Amino acid sequence: MIVGAGHAGGSVATMLRQQGWLGPVVLLGEEPLAPYQRPPLSKAWLKGEAALDGLLLRKPEIYAQQRIDLRVDTRVVAINRRACEVVLADGGRLRYDALILATGTRPRVLPVVGADLPGVLSLRGLADADRLKLTLGTATRLAVVGGGYIGLEVASAARSLGLEVTVVEREERPLARVASPEISAFFRRLHEERGVAFALSAEVAAIGGRGGRVAAVELGDGRRIDADLVLVGIGAVADMALAIDAGLDCRDGVLVDQACRTSDPSIHAIGDITRRPLPLYGREGRLENVQNALEQARQTACDLCGKPPPAPEVPWFWSDQYETKLQIAGLPFGAVRRVVRGNPAEGRFAVFHLMEDGVLVAVEAVNLPGEFMIGRQWIGQRRVLSPERVADAALSIKEVAG
Ligand SMILES: Cc1cc2nc3c(=O)[nH]c(=O)nc-3n(C[C@H](O)[C@H](O)[C@H](O)COP(=O)(O)OP(=O)(O)OC[C@H]3O[C@@H](n4cnc5c(N)ncnc54)[C@H](O)[C@@H]3O)c2cc1C
Repeated sequence: MIVGAGHAGGSVATMLRQQGWLGPVVLLGEEPLAPYQRPPLSKAWLKGEAALDGLLLRKPEIYAQQRIDLRVDTRVVAINRRACEVVLADGGRLRYDALILATGTRPRVLPVVGADLPGVLSLRGLADADRLKLTLGTATRLAVVGGGYIGLEVASAARSLGLEVTVVEREERPLARVASPEISAFFRRLHEERGVAFALSAEVAAIGGRGGRVAAVELGDGRRIDADLVLVGIGAVADMALAIDAGLDCRDGVLVDQACRTSDPSIHAIGDITRRPLPLYGREGRLENVQNALEQARQTACDLCGKPPPAPEVPWFWSDQYETKLQIAGLPFGAVRRVVRGNPAEGRFAVFHLMEDGVLVAVEAVNLPGEFMIGRQWIGQRRVLSPERVADAALSIKEVAG
């Protein structure tokens, strides 16, 4: 039984069949539709450039064809581990032999007065994206609170739709928690060239209203940013209430091993809710990306079907803003040196993150898919690179390894 019919839950259902699982597969999701992809929600969807069919992970008929009992609009409110049952919001109870938790994350709430005013939105699911899209169509001034990926992607879509946009960020640069200073500087300039204003090192003190609707973001230093729409994109927290209440070991995520087993042998957890081992980096962490959802779905399907575990993958992620594609492979843990390859001014460059001994641990590539692809392979192989060769634009990326 799978709780959460998102990217991870939807994927593990079909992967179980691929790996030979013969028993029933029940996929429970609280949203009203079949599993879909979230990445387009902050990108093409807002601009009206994506259709619902294209969002869905699989055609709806696949579930019946593969004997997957998909139940939408079905919220699980508790897990009774002793009885091996889940309790549904309507009071129903379902027994499980094996349970997979895939409940994802929910947006972090901005803890200030006025954050609940109409016109203050967040973005996680399709319903949020539809609300945002509708409001973007009538609003003129958008303030984005949080200069992370979702915030910047929404800023980019809103500029394309002609809104005035200000990004408010607590740190001194956008993407501060998730990208290198070089990438932050590039995206800040890209947005500024497209007319986005930034309020950096700025703490939100309150959201001001007028006539029962949002009217401004008020900053701690007294500045006031007028806005008739505010998007709050300040990160997400693991939606692990079910796991905590059931007594599973959790610490900023449900703790799992390399096969996605939780502290209860009959319960696996996958996707954004997990705090997982990162074998390439000798530590653990919580990842919020599609690659992680798919990798853990695969690990779980193999584990439950008695198949050998798949080889650990290199984490990767992407972001689209305007016509620019950022692709990131690996994580910069342990890196002491950043080497820039290519020219940020031309909008095509990559930042290579090297450890003391030259081992490559992460690559951030802007409009350079080759550097991303090869970088990803090299990270998995723990390749040692020479910083001078990485920076030498006269060498092709394949020649860099020497
Ligand atoms: C706007 C946006 C843009 C993104 N862009 C990118 C990107 O460009 N690249 C990238 O790699 N990743 C991106 N991500 C992240 C990526 O979408 C997630 O990592 C991925 O969806 C995680 O899959 P999941 O199954 O763990 O969680 P989700 O896909 O969030 O699915 C969890 C599901 O569980 C359901 N659920 C929760 N609790 C219950 C319950 N009690 N009972 C029943 N159902 C429940 C939820 O309603 C939801 O449908 C983006 C995310 C968002 C929100």
